[in-house]
Amino acid sequence: MVVANNRNGQILINETAIRKNVHQAVERLTPGSKLFAVVKADGYGHGAVQVARAAAAAGATGFCVAVLDEAIQLRKAGLVEQPILVLGLTDETKVDLVVKYDVTVTVADAEWLRAAAQLKQSLRVTGRLKFFLALDSGMGRIGLQRPEEVRAFVATVNELQAQFDWQGLYTHFATADSPDDHYFNFQLHNFRQLLGEIKHLPRYVSVANSAADLWHPVPEANLVRYGIAMYGLNPSGTAIKPPFPLTPALSLTSELVSVRQVEPGRSIGYGATYSVTEPTWIGTIPLGYADGLRRSLQGFLVLVNGKRCPIVGRVCMDQLMVKLPNSVPVHTKVTLIGTDHGHTITLQEMAEHCQTIHYELACGFSNRLPRFYY
Ligand code: PLP
Repeated sequence: MVVANNRNGQILINETAIRKNVHQAVERLTPGSKLFAVVKADGYGHGAVQVARAAAAAGATGFCVAVLDEAIQLRKAGLVEQPILVLGLTDETKVDLVVKYDVTVTVADAEWLRAAAQLKQSLRVTGRLKFFLALDSGMGRIGLQRPEEVRAFVATVNELQAQFDWQGLYTHFATADSPDDHYFNFQLHNFRQLLGEIKHLPRYVSVANSAADLWHPVPEANLVRYGIAMYGLNPSGTAIKPPFPLTPALSLTSELVSVRQVEPGRSIGYGATYSVTEPTWIGTIPLGYADGLRRSLQGFLVLVNGKRCPIVGRVCMDQLMVKLPNSVPVHTKVTLIGTDHGHTITLQEMAEHCQTIHYELACGFSNRLPRFYY
């Protein structure tokens, strides 16, 4: 999608907030531990390259992404010093690119190593391929689940060590963001059992996403994969208070492009779902669901000149309408996420209105919205 630079509608990213959020987490690391900034999905919609640079400046020593292309994007942008771990599974046929861009992949079984070793040889890829092992302690997604699988895996790594560089291992918790730690403890027990099968641990042992880092210290671990909290968002929504304040980095602002008084008897938007019963000032904002603003935002309050105004009628693909308390000039600023005149609308409030999580909204803002950094 084209970036709409000639329309007043933009995402503003506060890099100082990102640096502050990372710095606070880095300060809490135990000696010898490291923090990798999770910048997958274009930095959760914040811009992967800019976020990675800000995070590195604040003490992150590596990055995590979801797919190989995201790792290559960072390398091509000049981030060549730090390790980049791909958290999703990478097809073994991509071994040449993995080595060329010095990327660390996630490996979830011994068969992958064997297939990749063969391909490396047939493609004449020189250099050892870096990887982390995924251990599935109960997330049910990827990784080894049983002690005997871990034993067999270690044997395969030993056999193929000329080809591979085993950098680390990690597990992922399904409920670290919940006040109920029952399942967390079950996973931790499973993880420890799997870990016990490995005599010589690799450099990195990682269990923590943001939630685990904030609320569940695990002494065996020495690498944090820090995502949502770096963006200033509470991983639990509002369920658990973070041990220190997180500063949200993302704002979304626009302006009114039309302000008109609509007469009773008329309706607003597709489906005529909002009926005007008295003369009503309606303002139009040039953003819609093609920008990532959900149709379910009907009824959500946005800030116009610091006053909360409801979105009325259905959100269209490229426009949405708000009910104004009175006439205001065209070009008046609208804040959909962020602070205006001392009032704040958070991504968390927007997510609650849409019955989803802030993660999903943040990475759903489309590329049509330009991102500006300050
Ligand atoms: N590690 C893995 C394997 C993940 O899948 C994710 C995110 O989904 C993270 C770390 C970062 O999680 P968070 O953004 O909650 O910190």
